[in-house]
Amino acid sequence: EALDRIQVLEPKLHSFLHVTAQQALEQAKAVDAKIAAGEKIGLLAGIPVGIKDNMCTKGIPTTCASRILENFVPPYESTVTQKLADAGAVMVGKTNLDEFAMGGSTENSAYQSTANPWDLSRVPGGSSGGSAAAVAAEECVVSLGSDTGGSIRQPASFCGVVGMKPTYGLVSRYGLVAFASSLDQIGPFGRSVEDTAILLNAIAGYDPQDSTSLKVEIPNYAAGLKPDLKARGKLRIGVIKETFGEGLDSVVEQAVTKAIDQLQSLGAEIHIISCPNFRYGVPSYYIIAPSEASANLARYDGVKYGLRVPDADNLLSMYTRTRATGFGAEVKRRIMIGTYALSAGYYDAYYLKAQKVRTLIKQDFERAFKTVDVLVCPTVPTTAFKAGEKNTDPLSMYLLDLMTIPANLAGLPGISVPCGFDDQGLPIGLQLIGKVLGEDQLIKVAYAYEQ
Ligand code: GLN
Repeated sequence: EALDRIQVLEPKLHSFLHVTAQQALEQAKAVDAKIAAGEKIGLLAGIPVGIKDNMCTKGIPTTCASRILENFVPPYESTVTQKLADAGAVMVGKTNLDEFAMGGSTENSAYQSTANPWDLSRVPGGSSGGSAAAVAAEECVVSLGSDTGGSIRQPASFCGVVGMKPTYGLVSRYGLVAFASSLDQIGPFGRSVEDTAILLNAIAGYDPQDSTSLKVEIPNYAAGLKPDLKARGKLRIGVIKETFGEGLDSVVEQAVTKAIDQLQSLGAEIHIISCPNFRYGVPSYYIIAPSEASANLARYDGVKYGLRVPDADNLLSMYTRTRATGFGAEVKRRIMIGTYALSAGYYDAYYLKAQKVRTLIKQDFERAFKTVDVLVCPTVPTTAFKAGEKNTDPLSMYLLDLMTIPANLAGLPGISVPCGFDDQGLPIGLQLIGKVLGEDQLIKVAYAYEQ
């Protein structure tokens, strides 16, 4: 059914870069055979999943939506996709993204732009736009994305689905193509909080292959979900005051305010919380992320991976011509910003300063979590914008990340749940941010709200 739907919808949506129909059917048949033989089947047996094309899949192209990895077929499997396969999931394909996950509209893909299933003239958000659109359009049941500054939560908000960025270190990054390693986290998309929670269970857990992986007990996130918040004693929810200022669409403000009232009527105690350093999130992120990216992307030199431009005169011209041809404009912009910010004369003024601001933002959260258990704010200040509207103006695109970036800078979990529609029928997202390893609580609150 998923493959049929993909065939019908892909000419309009372009959510997938590769559809792995053959393998999917084989995997599905293997599950059927197990059932017929009365063998034990996994948590996700037979469930069609989409995987963002920046996660390595052995023998299946992994392009990061970049020309530089056009022919790259990984010789190894990422931990998350291995875990999904072990749980019996059926991968139907690799989903589209902004090149190397840099962007917020999926228009930076070197191959195709993905459309928003709610309005094909609009973007699905990004960078995990393909994964969000595929779930929203029912091309698969759940999918995986990666979130460095909002790339799961923002497209979830634009596409009217649930998307979660886990605590940094909860999900292994082994086999995830690195963008900004201190911020990157893989996470789940689903059409319900419960589906999202089940997928998180399948991918979370310690992995010795990732040096930043946390050694912690993983609870059953989908267990004990209840439609109200009363049973759990006093739950204190903090509304982040600074996210309700200038630049917030009034329809988004209204929907989120209504959602907060609803949380209150479900039994939560509402507090107004100030996070004064949030407004420095975007400027510090757009120093730190490009700095890390400029180092991570140095490996694409025409020697080890993917593209090599032919007929270069010498080694240096091979490097420069390969990189000039292989990387798109946004990726080049980030490499230049990052290289500049890390260079000897500017390191203290930019990179070090941004790292100090990162600490201040973390302290804002620590202070907030002394008073409340969960924080709430809009996921994005607007609903989905028109294709072509912002991709010539990078700064206007960066500014949309102001509410999602702080959780990445502090390593905290965040979830976006649908909370209504604007007057054009476009979905709006509510963001809940939790304490370190507070996934369990976030999922419980999101579930109660969703009911
Ligand atoms: N929009 C942000 C950026 O362009 C976030 C991307 C992400 O989370 N991968 O960097």
